[in-house]
Order: sequence, then structure tokens, then C-alpha cells
Amino acid sequence: MGDGMIQLYDKNKNLIAVGRRVEEMYLLDVSVRMPTQHPSVTEIILYTWANWHRQFRHVGISGLQRMLAHNLVDGFHVTTPDSPMNTCDACIQAKQTCASFLKHTECWARNAGELTHTDLWEA
Ligand SMILES: [Zn+2]
Repeated sequence: MGDGMIQLYDKNKNLIAVGRRVEEMYLLDVSVRMPTQHPSVTEIILYTWANWHRQFRHVGISGLQRMLAHNLVDGFHVTTPDSPMNTCDACIQAKQTCASFLKHTECWARNAGELTHTDLWEA
């Protein structure tokens, strides 16, 4: 930094991106490689909505579709753009909330089975 250029490294000190300053922001030149569990096997990169969703740190599908439709990111393409994106467990879990119990209520269950509490989940 300081010369209008920026270099980003991962935790192993590998260069992962370079960029140049454009006004108040840096325009990054980034290439994305999806991790593989078997490094000895030829890497097949599938650019699915789900992969891009994780690469962009769980941005919503509408944001990804907008990026694709307006060609906002160089190299951003989707292998099967018409396929739906499956639900993301991490996003569902992150959006869960837990309401606190009321300290006082006027409705008390007096007998077993009078009141039932459940968690609802739509998949
Ligand atoms: Zn997600």
C-alpha cells in the first residue's frame, strides 16, 4: 500500500490477490480456486451458485444474480445458471433467533399435556 497498489496474502503467506487503488477503493484482481479434498486428483471446478455463495461469504442469491446479470465481476460465471441454489445450512443457522421466556404470564398449564412447545422448521 502507499503506492496505489495492494497485495493480499493468505495465512500461509501465499499471494492471493493484487489490486490498484481507484479513488477511495481498491480494485482487486482475484482468481478463485475451489478447494479440493483430494489434491492428487485433477481439480474440477464447478461454478455453482452454492460455491459462489460460499466464496462471497454467504451473499444472497439475488445479489449473485445481479452480479452475473450486470457483469459486475470479471471471471464470474455460473456453470448451470438456471439451476436453483439449495438452502445453505450455515445461513439458516446464522439467522436463527431465540426469544427469551416471559417472566410473567397469565396462562399457566396446570396439567400435563395442556401446553405444548415446539420448534418449527421449513425446509
Ligand atoms: Zn450461506
